[in-house]
Amino acid sequence: MIQNNKRNLALEVLKKYFGYENFRNGQETLIHSILGGRDALGIMPTGAGKSLVYQIPGIIMEGVTLVISPLISLMKDQVAALNEVGIHAAFINSSLSARQVSLALEYARQGKYQLIYVAPERLETEEFLYFALNTRISMVAVDEAHCISQWGQDFRPSYLKIVRFIEQLPKRPVIGAFTATATKEVMEDISCILKLQSPEVVVTGFDRENLYYEVRTPKDKEKEILHYIAEHPGKCGIIYCNTRNNVEELWELLLKEGVAAAKYHAGMSDTDRSRNQENFIYDRNLVMVATNAFGMGIDKSNVRYVIHYNMPKNIESYYQEAGRAGRDGEPSECILLYSGRDVEVNKFLIEKGNAGEEQDFADREIILERDMERLKKMTYYCFTKDCLREYILNYFGQYGNSSCGNCCNCLNEYEETDVTKQSMVILQCIRESGQRYGINLIIAALLGRRTAKLTATNMVNQSMYGKLASYQEGFLKQIVNKLILDEYLFVTSDKYAVVKLNRTALKVIEGEAAVILKTSKTNTEDREDGKAGSNASGKGGRLRKSEILTSRGLDLFEMLRQVRTDIAREEG
Ligand code: ADP
Ligand code: MG
Repeated sequence: MIQNNKRNLALEVLKKYFGYENFRNGQETLIHSILGGRDALGIMPTGAGKSLVYQIPGIIMEGVTLVISPLISLMKDQVAALNEVGIHAAFINSSLSARQVSLALEYARQGKYQLIYVAPERLETEEFLYFALNTRISMVAVDEAHCISQWGQDFRPSYLKIVRFIEQLPKRPVIGAFTATATKEVMEDISCILKLQSPEVVVTGFDRENLYYEVRTPKDKEKEILHYIAEHPGKCGIIYCNTRNNVEELWELLLKEGVAAAKYHAGMSDTDRSRNQENFIYDRNLVMVATNAFGMGIDKSNVRYVIHYNMPKNIESYYQEAGRAGRDGEPSECILLYSGRDVEVNKFLIEKGNAGEEQDFADREIILERDMERLKKMTYYCFTKDCLREYILNYFGQYGNSSCGNCCNCLNEYEETDVTKQSMVILQCIRESGQRYGINLIIAALLGRRTAKLTATNMVNQSMYGKLASYQEGFLKQIVNKLILDEYLFVTSDKYAVVKLNRTALKVIEGEAAVILKTSKTNTEDREDGKAGSNASGKGGRLRKSEILTSRGLDLFEMLRQVRTDIAREEG
């Protein structure tokens, strides 16, 4: 009975205060769970409406709801929005003076606020604890909860304090945790570290249907961006770069070309950052050039495109950053500009990052390995010719259609070539030679070349030697590429870049799985070499020049050795 009343109440609050008629997918289940006193874990994509899931119970339940939030700007926005519709809420963070903090806590103790937003660092201060121990706290909502996990990309040690804080409270409040990014590891971490008690878990799926995904490999990224912006006049967009330097340079270029852009990165002063952010939010600047420091929790609904000037270091980051487009549900575009160099720079950044002090809580080697693995998956995204949406969804463990019809690969026309026979030979060659060599050597052997190394390794005497001599090297590389993408093969991340078989490779060898190579019919991929394609014919498959070029990414971890020395020189 009481339960039912609370249910109706939730809908009433939604209508009365927020002006919406219906709950969105997942919201109601979580809200009811919380109102019934049960912990809740909500994994919902950006823009799904996670805030309401704790705001509405916060309004309905007696006592105070504490919302733990990682960013001051986030707190300010939400509190302002709540106040505007007549809900009493406040934030307590470092933007307030000591006196303002005391005053706010005093009001809070008197029961003047229904929701209080607080940064995790604040929880263990004496003043806050005193308040918390003397107030009825009915709920603790942890927003951006992935920050609690070392497996997430925004790990914040201070999030680990939350559970200790909760354990000090005289009565355990109901706990809700919310995030848009959650691989299985992150989800388990959230649940485990926060000690959620048989929570109601809602995972609404990661698909953002209104987003169009595309990967481009332009020769000149600047030109590509200028061109794109010119083609989208009056539209709002974010351009993400991987370094502050790139932000500065691109921003200057845009200004020079007459594009009123704002910029944002961690090297700027607080004032500059918040001014630029506001200029973008209020459409005074339509384009924002930023590092990944920009955007968490920003609720700007009309971002029509997100361009990645550089490939990010993992799919989690990409999904989150690209996901800032189209929060209003209108069609929007996510364009990634790939170059082989992005792989190298990311690898460099990962290695550098892992050498830092803050990482000594876990085995560095394991983290490094994990990050490299993620980088590989991100890189494969740029190479796959299958549905990009499906690729992202699969990454998060969600399986659906194999073709979304709204990404560059689904819209592109491909010629399909069955390369199962050649694949069998390649896989057998790798197996036969003991999985000890790099790709180039394997391919040289298959082509029947006579090099000193092939003789020295005795590959010339193996049964697969010269078996694919009638094919072009580029074509074979493409097949290997495909075998890696399909995870029949993998390349070790150490400096030797040895290519090895995954267990599934047996399926191909034994003829249980087919390998289909897709080659582009249109010339959208021919930009890397600047011209639309003179066909290089290989037996059993035609190949455009750019595809040979892009297949260079195949030697990702080998090519690295050269480029890394370049980068080291630049940095030094
Ligand atoms: P998230 O935190 O999940 O990224 P937000 O809580 O910031 O998303 O909500 C995104 C937008 O969706 C906000 O503008 C919010 O007002 C709107 N919204 C939330 N719930 C609903 C609903 N039930 N119906 C319509 N709009 C909603
Ligand atoms: Mg949010």
